[in-house]
Amino acid sequence: MLRTLFIFSEIVPYSKTGGLADVGGALPLALAQIGVDVRVLVPYYGQPTLGDLRWRCAVTTPYTGEAAELWSLAEQPQILFLRYPHYYERDGSPYQDGEGGDWPDNDRRFALLNRVAVEIAQGRVPGFDWRPDILHANDWQTGLIPYLLDLETRVGAIRPATLFTIHNLAYQGRFAPSAMASLHLPDSDFHWLGTELHGDFSFMKAGLAYSDQLTTVSPTYAQEIQTNAFGMGLDGLLRTRNRQLSGILNGIDTRQWNPATDPHLPAHYSAQDRQGKAECKSQLQSSLGLYPDPGMFLLGMISRLVEQKGTDMVLDILPDLLRRGMQVVILGSGDKSFEQRLLEMAAAHPAQMAARITFDEGLSHRIEAGTDAFLMPSRFEPCGLNQMYSLHYGTLPIVHRTGGLADTVTDAEDFNHLEQRNGFVFTNPNSDALHDTVLRAEALFRQPILWSQLQDQAMTGDYSWQHSAHAYLRLYHEVLARRTGGR
Ligand code: ADP
Repeated sequence: MLRTLFIFSEIVPYSKTGGLADVGGALPLALAQIGVDVRVLVPYYGQPTLGDLRWRCAVTTPYTGEAAELWSLAEQPQILFLRYPHYYERDGSPYQDGEGGDWPDNDRRFALLNRVAVEIAQGRVPGFDWRPDILHANDWQTGLIPYLLDLETRVGAIRPATLFTIHNLAYQGRFAPSAMASLHLPDSDFHWLGTELHGDFSFMKAGLAYSDQLTTVSPTYAQEIQTNAFGMGLDGLLRTRNRQLSGILNGIDTRQWNPATDPHLPAHYSAQDRQGKAECKSQLQSSLGLYPDPGMFLLGMISRLVEQKGTDMVLDILPDLLRRGMQVVILGSGDKSFEQRLLEMAAAHPAQMAARITFDEGLSHRIEAGTDAFLMPSRFEPCGLNQMYSLHYGTLPIVHRTGGLADTVTDAEDFNHLEQRNGFVFTNPNSDALHDTVLRAEALFRQPILWSQLQDQAMTGDYSWQHSAHAYLRLYHEVLARRTGGR
C-alpha cells in the first residue's frame, strides 16, 4: 500500500483562512478512499480541544532542539496535530496577528512543521513507526520539506519522494537571507537554483527548486505561472522545471457542499427539483434586509477582499448595477479601504445591497444557495472553489478567464447555443468587461427557460474529488518509478 504524508498549514474544520484548508480536509480523504495509506500533519492551533485528541509521542527537532508533541484524531485519514503552544496557540490567524500583520517568527513557526515532517519521513520519531513513500507538501508553509530532504541525501540518507503543490504562487514565505543561518540551514544554498528569490530567502522557492514533482491546482494556472505576467518572479524556475510540473484541478467536498442536504440552508433542492432554491433566495433577501422580490437579479460574492479577487472592479460597477435595480450581497474581509467602501455603499442602498465584513461559514452557504449569479472576477485564480460551489448550487458564476475559473466555467456567449455552457466568462480583467458580462447574465436571467437550462447544466457537472485523487495517485506512481529508474 502506498503511503503518503500530507503537510498542510490549515485544515477544515479545525483551521481555515481560505481554499487551502478545504483541500486539506478533502484531498487526503479522497486518496484514502482509493486505497492510499494517508496521514496528514498540521499545526495545532487550539482546535479540536485536546480532550478529543490522543497523545501520540514527543518529537524534538535536530539543530533547533524544539520539543514538540504529536497528537492525533482517531478518524480516517489520520490527522496528526503538531503541538507547540508557543508557536501555534495564539490569538489571531495561522499567519497573522489580530491587526493583520504577519507573525514576526513565521519562519521559525513553519520551519518547525517542516522539520517534524522530515523527522517522520526519516523514521526518527521514537514511538512512531510509520514512514511515507511520498511527502506531499502544500504551499510556502511547507516549502522547506523538499529542501531539508535534499540535505539528508547529501549525507547519504535515503529519503521518500517529494511532491509540492502550489495553491497560490503569490504567497512566497519570504524572509531575510539571515533567516537561513538562524534556522541552521547552509548559506551556500542561497543562490538562484536554491532558496534565493530576489534577494530574499523564500520557502516557496525552496519547495519549487528541490521537490521531485511540482503540481498546481488547475491546468490553466500551470501554464500561466510559467509566464512573466503570472509567475511572480518564479516563472524562470518553473519553465526550467516544466517537465516536472502539472496542473490537477481541485474538487469540492460534496459532504459539506450539497444543496440537497446542506444543514445551513432554510430549504433543500436538487438539479431535478429546484423549488427550494426560490425559498433560499427569499429567506436570504429578508434576513439581509433586502427587498424580498423574487424577480430582482441577486448577485453574490464571497471573497477575501483584495485586489487579486477583483474587488476594485466590483466596486467600480456597483453603482450602475444598483441603479439598474439589481441586488448584491458581499461577504468577506481584507483590505480596509475596500471594506469601508462596500459598507458605505450598502448603507446607502439597504434594500438592494448587503455587505458583511466577517468570516461566516453558514452565511457563505446561504449566499451560494440564495443568489442567482456569483461574481468572481479574480485577476488570477489558481483554482478557485467558490465558482464550483456556485455551479453545484445552480448559481451561475460570472468569472474572468483565468486559472481554474477558465477550466471550470464555460461561457454562455450565444443564447442560441447553450449546450454544455454553465456561466459567464470575460477575457480582459477590467471593469468594463465585467460590467458587460453582468448585463449579459441579467439578460439571460430574464429568459427563465434558458436560465433554467444553464442551471441544469451547472448542477449536473462533476466537481467531485474523485478525478483529482486518481490523477494524484497516477503521479505518485510516476514519481516513484522515476526515482527507482534513476533521475
Ligand atoms: P482563496 O483560497 O484564494 O481565498 P478559494 O476560492 O480557493 O480562494 O477559497 C476560498 C474559501 O474560503 C472558500 O471555501 C470560501 O467560501 C471561503 N471564504 C472566503 N471568505 C469567506 C468569508 N468571509 N466567510 C466564509 N467563507 C469564506
